[in-house]
Amino acid sequence: MKQSINEPARQIPVAGEYDVIVVGGGTGGVVAAIAAARKGMNTLIVEQFGFLGGSQTAALVTPLMSIAPGNTSSIGGINEEIRQRMLKANASAEQPGIADGWFDPEMLKYVLDDFCMEAGVKIRFHSFFSEAIVDEGRIKGIIVQSKSGRQALLAKQVIDASGDADVAVSAGVPYEAGRKVDGMNQAMSLRFNMGGIDFDKLCAYLDQTEPQMAPHQWPFVETAFTFDKEYPLSPLFRKALEDGKVTEEDVVYFQNFSLPGCPGMMSFNCPRITNRVKGYDVDDLSNAQILGRQKIRRVAAFCKNYIPGFENAYIALAAPMVGIRETRRIIGEYVFSAEDVLHGSRFEDAVARGNYPMDIHQPKKANVSVEFEEDFISKIEYYELPYRCMVPLKIDNLLVVGRCSSTTFEGQSAMRVQGIIRTMGEAAGYAAALAVKDNLTPRQVDGTLIRQQLRDNGVKI
Ligand SMILES: Cc1cc2nc3c(=O)[nH]c(=O)nc-3n(C[C@H](O)[C@H](O)[C@H](O)COP(=O)(O)OP(=O)(O)OC[C@H]3O[C@@H](n4cnc5c(N)ncnc54)[C@H](O)[C@@H]3O)c2cc1C
Repeated sequence: MKQSINEPARQIPVAGEYDVIVVGGGTGGVVAAIAAARKGMNTLIVEQFGFLGGSQTAALVTPLMSIAPGNTSSIGGINEEIRQRMLKANASAEQPGIADGWFDPEMLKYVLDDFCMEAGVKIRFHSFFSEAIVDEGRIKGIIVQSKSGRQALLAKQVIDASGDADVAVSAGVPYEAGRKVDGMNQAMSLRFNMGGIDFDKLCAYLDQTEPQMAPHQWPFVETAFTFDKEYPLSPLFRKALEDGKVTEEDVVYFQNFSLPGCPGMMSFNCPRITNRVKGYDVDDLSNAQILGRQKIRRVAAFCKNYIPGFENAYIALAAPMVGIRETRRIIGEYVFSAEDVLHGSRFEDAVARGNYPMDIHQPKKANVSVEFEEDFISKIEYYELPYRCMVPLKIDNLLVVGRCSSTTFEGQSAMRVQGIIRTMGEAAGYAAALAVKDNLTPRQVDGTLIRQQLRDNGVKI
Protein backbone atom coordinates (compact mmCIF):
# COMPACT_ATOMS: atom_id res chain seq x y z
CA MET A 1 0.00 0.00 0.00
CA LYS A 2 1.20 3.50 -0.84
CA GLN A 3 2.09 5.73 2.09
CA SER A 4 -0.49 8.36 2.98
CA ILE A 5 -0.98 11.13 5.53
CA ASN A 6 -4.03 12.90 6.88
CA GLU A 7 -4.42 16.45 5.64
CA PRO A 8 -5.53 18.51 8.63
CA ALA A 9 -8.92 20.24 8.29
CA ARG A 10 -8.66 24.03 8.24
CA GLN A 11 -10.73 27.15 7.66
CA ILE A 12 -10.13 28.89 4.36
CA PRO A 13 -11.37 32.29 3.16
CA VAL A 14 -14.24 32.68 0.70
CA ALA A 15 -12.69 34.84 -2.01
CA GLY A 16 -15.87 35.52 -4.02
CA GLU A 17 -19.44 34.56 -4.90
CA TYR A 18 -20.68 34.24 -8.46
CA ASP A 19 -23.71 33.21 -10.48
CA VAL A 20 -21.58 31.02 -12.72
CA ILE A 21 -18.04 29.70 -12.26
CA VAL A 22 -16.33 28.17 -15.29
CA VAL A 23 -13.37 25.96 -14.43
CA GLY A 24 -10.94 26.07 -17.37
CA GLY A 25 -10.63 29.04 -19.71
CA GLY A 26 -9.96 26.85 -22.73
CA THR A 27 -11.72 26.10 -26.00
CA GLY A 28 -15.16 25.39 -24.54
CA GLY A 29 -14.85 27.22 -21.23
CA VAL A 30 -14.07 30.66 -22.53
CA VAL A 31 -17.06 30.59 -24.89
CA ALA A 32 -19.30 29.31 -22.08
CA ALA A 33 -18.20 32.22 -19.87
CA ILE A 34 -18.81 34.80 -22.60
CA ALA A 35 -22.28 33.37 -23.26
CA ALA A 36 -23.24 33.32 -19.57
CA ALA A 37 -21.93 36.85 -18.97
CA ARG A 38 -23.79 38.17 -22.00
CA LYS A 39 -26.98 36.83 -20.39
CA GLY A 40 -26.29 39.03 -17.38
CA MET A 41 -24.58 36.47 -15.14
CA ASN A 42 -21.82 37.43 -12.73
CA THR A 43 -19.34 34.99 -14.28
CA LEU A 44 -15.85 33.90 -13.27
CA ILE A 45 -13.27 31.84 -15.16
CA VAL A 46 -10.74 29.89 -13.06
CA GLU A 47 -7.70 29.08 -15.20
CA GLN A 48 -4.38 27.47 -14.29
CA PHE A 49 -2.35 29.38 -16.91
CA GLY A 50 -1.93 33.16 -17.31
CA PHE A 51 -3.89 33.28 -20.56
CA LEU A 52 -7.06 31.91 -22.16
CA GLY A 53 -7.50 29.42 -24.97
CA GLY A 54 -6.50 26.10 -23.40
CA SER A 55 -5.42 23.53 -25.97
CA GLN A 56 -5.70 26.13 -28.74
CA THR A 57 -3.07 28.41 -27.21
CA ALA A 58 -1.24 26.47 -24.48
CA ALA A 59 -0.94 23.23 -26.45
CA LEU A 60 -0.48 25.12 -29.77
CA VAL A 61 -3.32 23.18 -31.42
CA THR A 62 -3.94 24.84 -34.77
CA PRO A 63 -5.79 24.85 -37.13
CA LEU A 64 -9.50 24.48 -36.36
CA MET A 65 -10.76 21.44 -38.21
CA SER A 66 -13.70 21.67 -40.58
CA ILE A 67 -17.01 20.76 -38.90
CA ALA A 68 -19.62 21.46 -41.57
CA PRO A 69 -20.23 20.88 -45.27
CA GLY A 70 -18.26 23.42 -47.33
CA ASN A 71 -15.12 22.76 -45.26
CA THR A 72 -15.86 25.38 -42.67
CA SER A 73 -14.89 25.39 -39.01
CA SER A 74 -17.94 27.35 -37.88
CA ILE A 75 -21.71 27.06 -37.89
CA GLY A 76 -22.16 30.56 -36.47
CA GLY A 77 -22.57 32.10 -33.02
CA ILE A 78 -19.70 33.09 -30.75
CA ASN A 79 -17.36 30.70 -32.61
CA GLU A 80 -18.06 32.70 -35.78
CA GLU A 81 -17.55 35.99 -33.92
CA ILE A 82 -14.12 34.77 -32.78
CA ARG A 83 -13.32 33.64 -36.32
CA GLN A 84 -14.23 37.04 -37.74
CA ARG A 85 -12.24 38.91 -35.07
CA MET A 86 -9.20 36.73 -35.81
CA LEU A 87 -9.53 37.42 -39.54
CA LYS A 88 -9.73 41.16 -38.85
CA ALA A 89 -6.58 40.94 -36.71
CA ASN A 90 -4.77 39.22 -39.62
CA ALA A 91 -4.30 36.31 -37.25
CA SER A 92 -6.30 33.87 -39.38
CA ALA A 93 -6.95 33.25 -43.06
CA GLU A 94 -9.45 31.47 -45.27
CA GLN A 95 -9.80 30.04 -48.74
CA PRO A 96 -13.55 29.62 -49.14
CA GLY A 97 -14.58 25.99 -49.58
CA ILE A 98 -11.04 24.74 -48.99
CA ALA A 99 -9.83 25.87 -45.57
CA ASP A 100 -10.61 28.34 -42.87
CA GLY A 101 -9.82 28.66 -39.22
CA TRP A 102 -6.05 28.35 -39.57
CA PHE A 103 -4.93 30.75 -36.86
CA ASP A 104 -2.09 32.28 -34.88
CA PRO A 105 -2.38 30.84 -31.34
CA GLU A 106 -0.58 33.80 -29.76
CA MET A 107 -3.05 36.35 -31.13
CA LEU A 108 -6.00 34.19 -30.04
CA LYS A 109 -5.00 34.90 -26.41
CA TYR A 110 -5.42 38.66 -26.97
CA VAL A 111 -8.68 38.27 -28.88
CA LEU A 112 -10.19 36.05 -26.16
CA ASP A 113 -9.14 38.56 -23.48
CA ASP A 114 -11.01 41.24 -25.45
CA PHE A 115 -14.18 39.13 -25.76
CA CYS A 116 -14.19 38.40 -22.03
CA MET A 117 -13.57 42.01 -21.01
CA GLU A 118 -16.33 43.22 -23.33
CA ALA A 119 -18.79 40.70 -21.88
CA GLY A 120 -17.79 41.48 -18.29
CA VAL A 121 -16.33 38.04 -17.53
CA LYS A 122 -14.04 38.04 -14.48
CA ILE A 123 -10.90 35.95 -14.70
CA ARG A 124 -8.70 34.34 -12.08
CA PHE A 125 -5.51 33.25 -13.77
CA HIS A 126 -2.80 31.17 -12.11
CA SER A 127 -5.47 29.39 -10.08
CA PHE A 128 -5.66 25.64 -9.96
CA PHE A 129 -9.02 24.00 -9.27
CA SER A 130 -8.49 21.67 -6.36
CA GLU A 131 -11.80 20.39 -5.01
CA ALA A 132 -15.55 20.67 -5.36
CA ILE A 133 -17.47 21.57 -2.20
CA VAL A 134 -20.50 19.30 -2.47
CA ASP A 135 -23.60 19.61 -0.36
CA GLU A 136 -26.67 17.40 -0.95
CA GLY A 137 -25.98 16.74 -4.62
CA ARG A 138 -25.06 20.36 -5.44
CA ILE A 139 -21.69 22.03 -5.80
CA LYS A 140 -21.76 24.92 -3.34
CA GLY A 141 -18.42 26.14 -4.51
CA ILE A 142 -14.90 25.15 -5.40
CA ILE A 143 -11.53 25.27 -3.69
CA VAL A 144 -8.70 26.79 -5.69
CA GLN A 145 -4.99 26.93 -4.96
CA SER A 146 -2.88 29.89 -6.08
CA LYS A 147 -0.10 32.19 -4.88
CA SER A 148 -2.79 33.72 -2.64
CA GLY A 149 -3.16 30.38 -0.91
CA ARG A 150 -6.11 28.06 -0.67
CA GLN A 151 -9.43 29.84 -1.20
CA ALA A 152 -13.09 28.99 -1.71
CA LEU A 153 -15.21 30.45 -4.50
CA LEU A 154 -18.99 30.02 -4.31
CA ALA A 155 -21.35 29.65 -7.26
CA LYS A 156 -24.97 28.97 -8.15
CA GLN A 157 -23.97 27.03 -11.27
CA VAL A 158 -20.62 25.49 -12.18
CA ILE A 159 -19.36 24.65 -15.66
CA ASP A 160 -16.55 22.09 -15.80
CA ALA A 161 -14.48 22.94 -18.88
CA SER A 162 -11.22 21.51 -17.56
CA GLY A 163 -10.86 18.99 -20.40
CA ASP A 164 -10.33 16.23 -17.84
CA ALA A 165 -13.61 16.56 -15.88
CA ASP A 166 -11.66 17.61 -12.79
CA VAL A 167 -14.70 19.21 -11.12
CA ALA A 168 -17.16 16.48 -12.04
CA VAL A 169 -14.87 13.72 -10.79
CA SER A 170 -14.15 15.57 -7.56
CA ALA A 171 -17.92 15.95 -7.06
CA GLY A 172 -18.51 12.22 -7.56
CA VAL A 173 -19.91 12.15 -11.10
CA PRO A 174 -19.36 8.72 -12.70
CA TYR A 175 -16.95 8.67 -15.63
CA GLU A 176 -15.04 6.48 -18.05
CA ALA A 177 -11.58 6.92 -19.51
CA GLY A 178 -9.87 5.40 -22.50
CA ARG A 179 -11.06 2.64 -24.76
CA LYS A 180 -13.49 0.07 -23.44
CA VAL A 181 -11.21 -2.96 -23.72
CA ASP A 182 -8.36 -1.78 -21.44
CA GLY A 183 -8.81 1.91 -20.58
CA MET A 184 -5.91 2.94 -22.84
CA ASN A 185 -6.13 6.63 -23.79
CA GLN A 186 -5.39 8.18 -27.17
CA ALA A 187 -1.80 9.27 -27.80
CA MET A 188 -0.67 12.67 -26.53
CA SER A 189 1.41 15.03 -28.68
CA LEU A 190 3.78 17.75 -27.58
CA ARG A 191 3.29 20.30 -30.33
CA PHE A 192 5.86 22.94 -31.27
CA ASN A 193 6.43 25.86 -33.62
CA MET A 194 9.42 26.52 -35.87
CA GLY A 195 10.31 29.94 -37.26
CA GLY A 196 12.74 31.14 -39.92
CA ILE A 197 11.31 28.94 -42.70
CA ASP A 198 11.85 30.04 -46.31
CA PHE A 199 8.38 29.41 -47.73
CA ASP A 200 9.38 30.27 -51.33
CA LYS A 201 11.94 27.48 -51.25
CA LEU A 202 9.68 25.02 -49.42
CA CYS A 203 6.75 25.69 -51.79
CA ALA A 204 8.96 25.35 -54.87
CA TYR A 205 10.09 21.94 -53.56
CA LEU A 206 6.51 20.85 -52.86
CA ASP A 207 5.36 22.06 -56.32
CA GLN A 208 8.03 19.83 -57.83
CA THR A 209 7.28 16.75 -55.70
CA GLU A 210 3.50 17.18 -55.61
CA PRO A 211 2.66 18.93 -58.91
CA GLN A 212 -1.02 17.94 -58.74
CA MET A 213 -1.36 20.23 -55.68
CA ALA A 214 0.63 23.16 -57.14
CA PRO A 215 0.87 26.01 -56.48
CA HIS A 216 1.73 25.56 -52.82
CA GLN A 217 1.42 28.99 -51.27
CA TRP A 218 1.70 30.58 -47.88
CA PRO A 219 -0.47 30.90 -45.73
CA PHE A 220 -1.92 27.43 -46.45
CA VAL A 221 1.01 25.04 -46.52
CA GLU A 222 0.79 21.62 -44.92
CA THR A 223 3.13 18.64 -45.02
CA ALA A 224 2.76 15.22 -43.46
CA PHE A 225 4.38 11.83 -43.13
CA THR A 226 3.21 8.47 -41.81
CA PHE A 227 4.60 5.02 -42.55
CA ASP A 228 1.46 3.67 -44.21
CA LYS A 229 1.22 6.16 -47.13
CA GLU A 230 3.46 7.87 -49.68
CA TYR A 231 3.95 11.65 -49.21
CA PRO A 232 6.11 14.21 -51.07
CA LEU A 233 8.49 14.21 -48.10
CA SER A 234 8.65 10.40 -47.75
CA PRO A 235 12.06 10.03 -49.48
CA LEU A 236 13.54 12.59 -47.06
CA PHE A 237 12.22 10.69 -44.05
CA ARG A 238 13.54 7.38 -45.39
CA LYS A 239 16.98 8.96 -45.87
CA ALA A 240 17.03 10.45 -42.35
CA LEU A 241 16.01 7.07 -40.90
CA GLU A 242 18.79 5.36 -42.88
CA ASP A 243 21.25 8.00 -41.64
CA GLY A 244 20.13 7.34 -38.06
CA LYS A 245 19.14 11.00 -37.55
CA VAL A 246 15.61 10.23 -36.37
CA THR A 247 13.98 7.12 -34.97
CA GLU A 248 10.79 5.50 -36.29
CA GLU A 249 9.16 6.46 -33.01
CA ASP A 250 10.09 10.16 -33.56
CA VAL A 251 8.33 10.37 -36.90
CA VAL A 252 5.57 7.79 -36.55
CA TYR A 253 3.19 10.69 -37.16
CA PHE A 254 4.49 13.96 -38.64
CA GLN A 255 2.33 16.88 -39.68
CA ASN A 256 2.85 20.61 -39.83
CA PHE A 257 0.78 23.61 -40.87
CA SER A 258 1.64 27.20 -41.72
CA LEU A 259 0.38 29.82 -39.29
CA PRO A 260 -1.51 32.74 -40.87
CA GLY A 261 -0.31 35.93 -39.17
CA CYS A 262 3.15 34.42 -38.56
CA PRO A 263 5.20 34.57 -41.77
CA GLY A 264 8.09 32.12 -41.78
CA MET A 265 6.53 29.93 -39.11
CA MET A 266 4.94 26.46 -39.01
CA SER A 267 3.13 24.63 -36.24
CA PHE A 268 3.85 20.92 -35.78
CA ASN A 269 1.16 18.40 -34.80
CA CYS A 270 3.84 16.09 -33.38
CA PRO A 271 5.79 14.40 -31.88
CA ARG A 272 3.43 11.80 -30.54
CA ILE A 273 3.82 10.26 -27.11
CA THR A 274 2.46 6.75 -27.31
CA ASN A 275 3.18 5.18 -23.94
CA ARG A 276 2.36 6.49 -20.46
CA VAL A 277 -0.44 8.63 -21.83
CA LYS A 278 -2.76 9.34 -18.92
CA GLY A 279 -3.36 13.06 -19.23
CA TYR A 280 -4.59 13.12 -15.63
CA ASP A 281 -1.45 11.53 -14.19
CA VAL A 282 1.22 14.04 -13.20
CA ASP A 283 4.07 11.57 -13.82
CA ASP A 284 2.82 10.81 -17.34
CA LEU A 285 2.46 14.55 -18.04
CA SER A 286 5.99 15.20 -16.80
CA ASN A 287 7.33 12.34 -18.89
CA ALA A 288 5.55 13.72 -21.96
CA GLN A 289 7.18 17.14 -21.58
CA ILE A 290 10.70 15.72 -21.24
CA LEU A 291 10.39 12.96 -23.84
CA GLY A 292 8.47 15.31 -26.14
CA ARG A 293 11.20 17.97 -26.04
CA GLN A 294 13.87 15.33 -26.74
CA LYS A 295 11.90 14.23 -29.80
CA ILE A 296 11.28 17.84 -30.87
CA ARG A 297 15.03 18.46 -30.95
CA ARG A 298 15.56 15.50 -33.29
CA VAL A 299 12.55 16.28 -35.50
CA ALA A 300 13.61 19.95 -35.79
CA ALA A 301 17.18 18.92 -36.65
CA PHE A 302 15.77 16.59 -39.31
CA CYS A 303 13.73 19.47 -40.80
CA LYS A 304 16.79 21.77 -40.86
CA ASN A 305 19.04 19.19 -42.44
CA TYR A 306 16.70 17.49 -44.90
CA ILE A 307 13.74 19.70 -45.93
CA PRO A 308 14.41 22.49 -48.46
CA GLY A 309 13.43 25.85 -46.92
CA PHE A 310 14.22 24.82 -43.34
CA GLU A 311 17.96 25.48 -43.48
CA ASN A 312 17.76 28.53 -41.18
CA ALA A 313 14.74 27.42 -39.21
CA TYR A 314 14.73 27.24 -35.41
CA ILE A 315 12.49 25.93 -32.63
CA ALA A 316 10.40 28.95 -31.65
CA LEU A 317 8.34 27.28 -28.91
CA ALA A 318 7.48 23.88 -27.49
CA ALA A 319 3.96 23.84 -26.10
CA PRO A 320 3.75 24.61 -22.39
CA MET A 321 0.78 22.24 -22.19
CA VAL A 322 0.95 18.66 -23.46
CA GLY A 323 -1.63 18.10 -26.20
CA ILE A 324 -4.17 15.76 -24.65
CA ARG A 325 -6.66 14.17 -27.00
CA GLU A 326 -8.72 12.17 -24.54
CA THR A 327 -8.82 11.42 -20.82
CA ARG A 328 -11.90 11.20 -18.59
CA ARG A 329 -15.37 11.39 -20.08
CA ILE A 330 -18.29 11.90 -17.71
CA ILE A 331 -21.44 9.85 -17.86
CA GLY A 332 -24.34 12.15 -18.49
CA GLU A 333 -27.99 12.09 -19.45
CA TYR A 334 -26.99 11.06 -22.99
CA VAL A 335 -23.81 9.29 -24.08
CA PHE A 336 -22.78 10.31 -27.60
CA SER A 337 -21.37 7.30 -29.47
CA ALA A 338 -19.89 5.95 -32.70
CA GLU A 339 -23.42 5.03 -33.79
CA ASP A 340 -24.45 8.70 -33.54
CA VAL A 341 -21.55 9.70 -35.76
CA LEU A 342 -22.16 6.96 -38.30
CA HIS A 343 -25.92 7.40 -38.50
CA GLY A 344 -25.76 11.19 -38.42
CA SER A 345 -28.05 11.31 -35.39
CA ARG A 346 -30.39 14.27 -35.06
CA PHE A 347 -31.81 15.46 -31.72
CA GLU A 348 -34.57 17.87 -30.73
CA ASP A 349 -32.24 19.35 -28.13
CA ALA A 350 -29.23 19.53 -30.47
CA VAL A 351 -26.74 22.21 -29.43
CA ALA A 352 -23.86 21.49 -31.81
CA ARG A 353 -23.23 19.64 -35.02
CA GLY A 354 -20.22 18.36 -36.88
CA ASN A 355 -18.94 16.29 -39.76
CA TYR A 356 -15.46 15.55 -38.45
CA PRO A 357 -14.93 11.77 -38.63
CA MET A 358 -13.81 9.47 -35.84
CA ASP A 359 -10.07 10.07 -35.54
CA ILE A 360 -8.19 7.81 -33.13
CA HIS A 361 -4.46 8.55 -32.82
CA GLN A 362 -3.26 5.33 -31.28
CA PRO A 363 -3.48 2.98 -29.41
CA LYS A 364 -2.94 1.13 -32.67
CA LYS A 365 -5.62 -1.50 -32.34
CA ALA A 366 -8.21 0.88 -30.94
CA ASN A 367 -10.40 0.98 -33.95
CA VAL A 368 -14.03 1.92 -33.65
CA SER A 369 -16.26 -0.85 -32.45
CA VAL A 370 -18.40 -0.72 -35.60
CA GLU A 371 -17.55 -1.12 -39.27
CA PHE A 372 -17.91 1.93 -41.53
CA GLU A 373 -17.13 3.02 -45.06
CA GLU A 374 -14.50 5.71 -45.67
CA ASP A 375 -16.97 8.13 -47.25
CA PHE A 376 -19.73 7.74 -44.67
CA ILE A 377 -19.70 11.49 -43.89
CA SER A 378 -20.92 12.35 -47.39
CA LYS A 379 -23.96 10.11 -46.75
CA ILE A 380 -24.93 11.58 -43.37
CA GLU A 381 -23.91 15.19 -44.11
CA TYR A 382 -23.49 15.85 -40.36
CA TYR A 383 -24.30 14.53 -36.88
CA GLU A 384 -25.73 16.48 -33.97
CA LEU A 385 -24.85 16.55 -30.27
CA PRO A 386 -27.69 16.84 -27.78
CA TYR A 387 -27.71 19.24 -24.82
CA ARG A 388 -27.96 16.18 -22.52
CA CYS A 389 -24.31 15.26 -23.26
CA MET A 390 -23.32 18.13 -20.99
CA VAL A 391 -25.63 17.23 -18.11
CA PRO A 392 -23.86 14.85 -15.71
CA LEU A 393 -25.52 12.20 -13.60
CA LYS A 394 -25.68 12.70 -9.83
CA ILE A 395 -24.85 16.42 -9.44
CA ASP A 396 -27.55 19.04 -9.88
CA ASN A 397 -25.88 22.38 -10.68
CA LEU A 398 -23.09 21.29 -12.99
CA LEU A 399 -22.58 21.28 -16.76
CA VAL A 400 -19.58 19.58 -18.36
CA VAL A 401 -18.37 20.96 -21.68
CA GLY A 402 -15.54 19.99 -24.00
CA ARG A 403 -13.66 16.81 -24.72
CA CYS A 404 -14.68 15.41 -21.32
CA SER A 405 -18.44 15.64 -21.87
CA SER A 406 -20.58 12.49 -22.03
CA THR A 407 -19.38 10.35 -24.95
CA THR A 408 -17.91 6.95 -25.71
CA PHE A 409 -14.21 6.66 -26.62
CA GLU A 410 -15.11 6.51 -30.31
CA GLY A 411 -17.78 9.24 -30.19
CA GLN A 412 -15.32 11.53 -28.44
CA SER A 413 -12.74 11.01 -31.18
CA ALA A 414 -15.10 12.81 -33.59
CA MET A 415 -16.68 15.52 -31.43
CA ARG A 416 -13.43 16.70 -29.77
CA VAL A 417 -12.55 19.29 -32.45
CA GLN A 418 -12.56 22.98 -31.62
CA GLY A 419 -15.50 24.27 -33.68
CA ILE A 420 -17.86 21.72 -32.09
CA ILE A 421 -16.54 22.37 -28.59
CA ARG A 422 -16.81 26.13 -28.91
CA THR A 423 -20.45 25.77 -29.98
CA MET A 424 -21.18 23.42 -27.06
CA GLY A 425 -19.53 26.02 -24.82
CA GLU A 426 -21.97 28.67 -25.99
CA ALA A 427 -24.85 26.30 -25.21
CA ALA A 428 -23.47 25.54 -21.73
CA GLY A 429 -23.23 29.26 -20.96
CA TYR A 430 -26.85 29.86 -22.00
CA ALA A 431 -28.03 26.83 -20.03
CA ALA A 432 -26.23 27.91 -16.85
CA ALA A 433 -27.74 31.39 -17.17
CA LEU A 434 -31.24 30.00 -17.69
CA ALA A 435 -30.81 27.70 -14.70
CA VAL A 436 -29.80 30.65 -12.48
CA LYS A 437 -32.59 32.93 -13.73
CA ASP A 438 -35.41 30.37 -13.50
CA ASN A 439 -34.02 28.57 -10.46
CA LEU A 440 -33.74 25.27 -12.33
CA THR A 441 -31.15 22.52 -12.39
CA PRO A 442 -29.42 21.98 -15.74
CA ARG A 443 -31.28 18.64 -15.83
CA GLN A 444 -34.58 20.55 -15.75
CA VAL A 445 -33.51 23.04 -18.43
CA ASP A 446 -35.33 22.40 -21.70
CA GLY A 447 -32.58 21.79 -24.27
CA THR A 448 -34.83 22.96 -27.10
CA LEU A 449 -34.84 26.44 -25.51
CA ILE A 450 -31.06 26.42 -25.53
CA ARG A 451 -31.14 25.40 -29.17
CA GLN A 452 -33.43 28.39 -29.84
CA GLN A 453 -31.08 30.76 -28.01
CA LEU A 454 -28.20 29.48 -30.14
CA ARG A 455 -30.29 30.09 -33.27
CA ASP A 456 -31.10 33.59 -32.03
CA ASN A 457 -27.34 34.23 -31.92
CA GLY A 458 -26.88 33.00 -35.48
CA VAL A 459 -25.93 29.35 -34.90
CA LYS A 460 -27.17 27.15 -37.75
CA ILE A 461 -28.59 24.39 -35.61
C1 LIG B 1 -2.39 17.08 -30.39
C2 LIG B 1 -3.78 17.52 -30.69
C3 LIG B 1 -4.11 17.89 -31.98
C4 LIG B 1 -5.40 18.33 -32.26
N1 LIG B 1 -5.68 18.80 -33.51
C5 LIG B 1 -6.82 19.48 -33.72
C6 LIG B 1 -7.02 20.22 -34.91
O1 LIG B 1 -6.15 20.25 -35.80
N2 LIG B 1 -8.17 20.93 -35.04
C7 LIG B 1 -9.16 20.91 -34.09
O2 LIG B 1 -10.19 21.55 -34.29
N3 LIG B 1 -9.00 20.20 -32.95
C8 LIG B 1 -7.86 19.52 -32.73
N4 LIG B 1 -7.65 18.87 -31.55
C9 LIG B 1 -8.75 18.77 -30.56
C10 LIG B 1 -9.03 20.03 -29.77
O3 LIG B 1 -7.96 20.96 -29.81
C11 LIG B 1 -9.36 19.74 -28.30
O4 LIG B 1 -10.13 18.57 -28.17
C12 LIG B 1 -10.13 20.90 -27.70
O5 LIG B 1 -9.43 22.10 -27.89
C13 LIG B 1 -10.39 20.65 -26.22
O6 LIG B 1 -11.17 21.71 -25.70
P1 LIG B 1 -11.59 21.72 -24.17
O7 LIG B 1 -12.32 22.99 -23.93
O8 LIG B 1 -12.25 20.44 -23.83
O9 LIG B 1 -10.21 21.71 -23.38
P2 LIG B 1 -9.03 22.80 -23.39
O10 LIG B 1 -9.09 23.71 -24.55
O11 LIG B 1 -7.77 22.04 -23.21
O12 LIG B 1 -9.35 23.66 -22.08
C14 LIG B 1 -9.16 23.15 -20.78
C15 LIG B 1 -8.74 24.33 -19.92
O13 LIG B 1 -8.85 24.00 -18.56
C16 LIG B 1 -7.68 24.43 -17.87
N5 LIG B 1 -7.56 23.54 -16.71
C17 LIG B 1 -7.49 22.20 -16.71
N6 LIG B 1 -7.47 21.72 -15.47
C18 LIG B 1 -7.51 22.79 -14.65
C19 LIG B 1 -7.54 22.93 -13.24
N7 LIG B 1 -7.50 21.85 -12.43
N8 LIG B 1 -7.58 24.19 -12.73
C20 LIG B 1 -7.62 25.27 -13.54
N9 LIG B 1 -7.61 25.18 -14.89
C21 LIG B 1 -7.57 23.96 -15.42
C22 LIG B 1 -6.58 24.29 -18.90
O14 LIG B 1 -5.47 25.06 -18.60
C23 LIG B 1 -7.30 24.75 -20.17
O15 LIG B 1 -7.23 26.14 -20.33
C24 LIG B 1 -6.39 18.37 -31.24
C25 LIG B 1 -6.04 17.99 -29.95
C26 LIG B 1 -4.76 17.58 -29.67
C27 LIG B 1 -4.40 17.24 -28.26
